[in-house]
Amino acid sequence: MNNFKKIAVIGAGTMGNGIAHVFAQHGYKVNLIDISETALKNALSTISRNLDRMLEKQQTTSKDKLDTLKNITGHTILAEGIEKADLVIEAASENIDIKKTIFEQLEAHCAPKTILASNTSSISITALAAVTKRPDRVIGMHFMNPVPLMPLVEIIRGYSTSDETALAVIELAKTIGKSPTEVNDYPGFVANRILMPMINEAIETLYHSVAGVREIDMVMKLGMAHPMGPLQLADFIGLDICLSIMNVLYEGFKNPKYAACPLLVNMVQAGKLGIKSGEGFYDYSESKKAFKVASRFDPSNGHKR
Ligand code: NAD
Repeated sequence: MNNFKKIAVIGAGTMGNGIAHVFAQHGYKVNLIDISETALKNALSTISRNLDRMLEKQQTTSKDKLDTLKNITGHTILAEGIEKADLVIEAASENIDIKKTIFEQLEAHCAPKTILASNTSSISITALAAVTKRPDRVIGMHFMNPVPLMPLVEIIRGYSTSDETALAVIELAKTIGKSPTEVNDYPGFVANRILMPMINEAIETLYHSVAGVREIDMVMKLGMAHPMGPLQLADFIGLDICLSIMNVLYEGFKNPKYAACPLLVNMVQAGKLGIKSGEGFYDYSESKKAFKVASRFDPSNGHKR
């Protein structure tokens, strides 16, 4: 191991629980923090369920499962959760105001040597670093979803991130079996600058009735060897997250090619966020894996856009 012993993860949603899981499984003590007691409870049961699935596939042992769960402590009070943390990874909602407030609190409560990382998909690391007095110790650690399975961590250097911070975080990511890849801090970084316009274009294709949900996903799966189609992937990521990222690209580059599809905007306004809300392009009301096109997009119901 290295100088990182205690890791605090802020936000226990889709990403936070995966990040906590992976660090805990590699022997780190993890404080998982969320303002919502329910989110915290759900996160701990998701981690336990995911470890059970690994047990079934003989990818882990019962002892490893117990040790992993023992390494995670839940907190709803930020100041308590970040105490003595060597590294804080912020994985709260994709909203710049929420993230800036969290970074201000981190600056106030963390030891000066603590490294502050964000798992943001697209928000400027430089802007988050600017609300602290330690911009050299602020960095992006962009994990991929689902965190226990995906090897990549996009390491984003803010304008003032020091070499020492980047190196320490890169070495840390390797100790949890990940492949860190360094990129610079421009809107969407690399992953989402390429991925999100493709997802947005798939939604435009549906919006313009070029093809249905199933057909669009089928073309990309069978024709391009993508493991899942772009509309299914959007549901998996969360349509609210997709919209936030498109808005960051649009505002960051001032280029109309990044304008979010009006259908995406409508769906987020209607609360159809994908798997997490039970409906997006597909209907997940019966099972998270159910592959039923949402009734709105069912061709037998006519064309509603
Ligand atoms: P999510 O909506 O599933 O979870 C966010 C959690 O943050 C919620 O539980 C919420 O209660 C909590 N939260 C909000 N404000 C908080 C605060 N002030 N203090 C503590 N907790 C707070 O979101 P997510 O999908 O896990 O995304 C989290 C971050 O990870 C975002 O920045 C997102 O862009 C990024 N990300 C998401 C994905 C993805 O596929 N969903 C992939 C990579 C990165």
